[in-house]
Formats: sequence, C-alpha cells, structure tokens
Amino acid sequence: MSVPSGWEVVIGMEVHVQPRTRTKMFCGCAVGQLGDPPNSNVCEICSGMPGVLPVINRAAVEACLKTALALGCEIPRHTKFDRKNYMYPDLPKGYQISQYDLPMSRNGRLEIEGREVRIRRVHLEEDTGKLIHAGDKLQKAKESFVDLNRAGVALMEIVSEPDLRSADEARDYAVALRTLLRTIGASEAEMEKGQLRAEPNISLRRVGSEELGVKTELKNINSFRALHRAIVYEVARQTELLEAGGAVVQETRGWSEAEQRTFSQRSKEFAEDYRYFPEPDLPPLELDQAWIEELRRALPEMPGTRRTRLVSQYGLPAADAGQIAAQLELADLFEEVVKSGADARPTANWIIGEVAPSGKVPSALHLAEVVKLVAGGSITRDQGRKVLSESLADGRSPADIVAARGFAQDSDESSVRTIVEAVMAANPRAVEDYRAGKKQALGALMADLKKRAPQANPKVASDLLQEMLR
Ligand SMILES: [Zn+2]
Repeated sequence: MSVPSGWEVVIGMEVHVQPRTRTKMFCGCAVGQLGDPPNSNVCEICSGMPGVLPVINRAAVEACLKTALALGCEIPRHTKFDRKNYMYPDLPKGYQISQYDLPMSRNGRLEIEGREVRIRRVHLEEDTGKLIHAGDKLQKAKESFVDLNRAGVALMEIVSEPDLRSADEARDYAVALRTLLRTIGASEAEMEKGQLRAEPNISLRRVGSEELGVKTELKNINSFRALHRAIVYEVARQTELLEAGGAVVQETRGWSEAEQRTFSQRSKEFAEDYRYFPEPDLPPLELDQAWIEELRRALPEMPGTRRTRLVSQYGLPAADAGQIAAQLELADLFEEVVKSGADARPTANWIIGEVAPSGKVPSALHLAEVVKLVAGGSITRDQGRKVLSESLADGRSPADIVAARGFAQDSDESSVRTIVEAVMAANPRAVEDYRAGKKQALGALMADLKKRAPQANPKVASDLLQEMLR
C-alpha cells in the first residue's frame, strides 16, 4: 500500500469476537448455527419481554478474562455492566447491555511483527438481532423481517489504541488476534461465520503532527481481505479530500464488497447520545482473584513467545518462525514433524511452501516421512510434492505412494556412474561440444539421462556428469 506523501495514516481497531459459549450472554438460549430457522433460538429474556431478569454467563466471563490476560491486560477487582440506550428494530429491549466505565480489563498489548500495539480494553456485551430487508434472499413482499437468533449472543469487544499505521498492519493485527484467540480457546474466531468482525477507525494527519485527525469508522468487516481493501480505499478517499482542501466528516461508513468502496452510513454518535447507566438488573461483578490467577497459570504459550522459541530452539530464520507461529495448526504441525525425526529447516520450508498455501493440514507422521524421503535423496522435491498431495487426498502413507508410483530414486553413486557413462557414450557430439566450451550441451546430456534413467537422482547425476566431462 502506498503511503500518501506528507501524510501519516492512523488506525485504531475495535474487534468484536464471539466467545466460545453454548448459550447466550444473559439467558439459556442456545447460540445456534448460521442458517438456523429465524427466531428459533429466542426466549423472553433475549427478545426483551418486560419483567424478566438477565443472568451473567460464566463461560463468557471466563473467555473474556482469558483473552484479557493473554493480551497482558490489567483486570480490576470490580467490573459492572451498563445499559447503552438506542432505538433500532434489531434491538428489542431498546438498549444493549454492555460495559462503559468499568470494563473487565484495560491496558494490554499485542505484538505484531516485533511491534507492540496497545490494547485499551477488552469488555463483554451482547449482540443484536438481524434485519432482513426488501431485496435480501428471504424477502417475499415489500417488508422487512427481524431475526433475533443473534440477539443476546455474547460478544467480546477488543479495542486497540490508534497504533496501527497501514492497511497491512491492520490486517496483521487482526490475524494475530485471531491466532491468539484460537490458541487460548476463547473463540473459534471464524470471520466467515461472523465470529470475528473488525471495525477499524481511520484518520490522516500531517507527518510530524501529534494531534489526531478526524476519523471515520468502518463497520462490521468480516474478512481480512475486505479489511485490507476497505482501509486502502478509505485512506485514498481521505487523502484526496484533504489534499483538495476539504475536511473529513466524522461518521460511520460501510464497505461495499460489490462496488469495492466505502459509503456513508450515519454521522457518528457520541457516548452521551447513548445515555449509559449501570444495568439495574445485574449485580456488579466482583472478580475472584484466585480464579484470575488460576486462569493466568493455565494459559498456553502465546504466539509471540512461540515465535521466539522456534528461532532459539530450532534455529529457524525469524521470518519463517513468524509465519509458522502465526497459525496454531502450522506451529503444532511443525513441532510434531520435527519430533518425528525430520530436520527443522526443511520441515519449515515444506510447511511454508507447500502446506500453508494448500490450506490443508497433513498428518505430522506423513509430512515427516515426505521431508525425510526428499532430504535423504530417495525422491525428488517434485515427487515429494505429488506424494504429499496424494497422501492428503486419500490418507495413504507416503511410503505406499512412492512404491505404487515407482518414485524411488537412485542416489547410489556407482549405479548412477554407469548410467552417466552410457549417456556420454551415446552422445559423443554433445560431449565434444561441452568440452569445447559450449556449456549448454550439458542440458542435452541431462535430458537424455532423464529419459534413460528417470529414477536417477538428478543432483547426483548432474554432479557426476560435470565431473566426468572435465
Ligand atoms: Zn434467550
């Protein structure tokens, strides 16, 4: 992404994450699945009937605390829930239960690419319902529908300070957050299921200025790609406005995937518009310090720490270690494969070059076998790739595939030497040319060698051939 000259991009992120819970935030309704019939997971509480009382979901509090601890946040002893009042048809109570001035945690950090992004707070709230309008899939007449399956589903809101400086960094931040959430088991964080939604706020300021510019907030972005593109678009839009002497309007904007542009949704509300007040139906929460310490002790190794360890323990280059540690499944796979006897560096190359782009995770034993077969010269790297993809497809062991395909490679020097001698005898002209200085004649000799003996290890053959041509 090109940074507009003279301007600095300033991005803060709010990320909404659905914690891993069976039931909603304040009632016993199942969280349900995408595609459940509309209004099938709804009760008096989450549909906002009068006279009912919410009850705090302990699993949601635990997920929020784990996330906060993993982000290095301070956990205050006292926290409470507040009503955020606004009227919208997808909000049956006319208010959302959220946290205002005493959130569950504050002042954390998340490391991306060796840089620290400060986390302002992680708090808990509830999701709203969903409106289905004319033109949407389910629309029959000129009507709108309300589906309350999502209403009351627990959400964690993770708010960063405005420490991000580009679309790349914003995407890296969201990816790092997803890895962390999955590592600690706080959320499945699948963006395509709406379990992780990013809301970046973006402003520009003159390089060297300490003051923040006027920001716009992009709502509900649900893929890393859209996040990146929306920010690139918004930065370009604001730059153009400011360079033409105009002003950015503080507002909420949406991202149109179809048109690949952001569009104005509504002017920004301020906190006072929401008339926050403490939720009278819930007691303030006093968090048990022993419980917090227990959760802290039970946290697994964080991705940043793991990256550092992959470098020190296995001698991986920092970039490779970073790429592997950024995905929990890949990092686990790497360590399993190495434990099965494969060397660390080639294993990392296979994981970054073949496994990660394929989007499928092979069994550690099979990958270890492939890495060892290639490293030991029994099969070529190309053959290794084929073996790995076949093994991924049907689960057969690499050894079986190598045998069935006749891939075994001949690396024995004396037997390859016999082949090289035969090739040289059959191509006296090419041999002469090579010795006369036409080095490209080697290609013709190698081609003939591959035709005669496809099983010969090409590296061993090429080395021998060059030695014998001298
Ligand atoms: Zn309910």
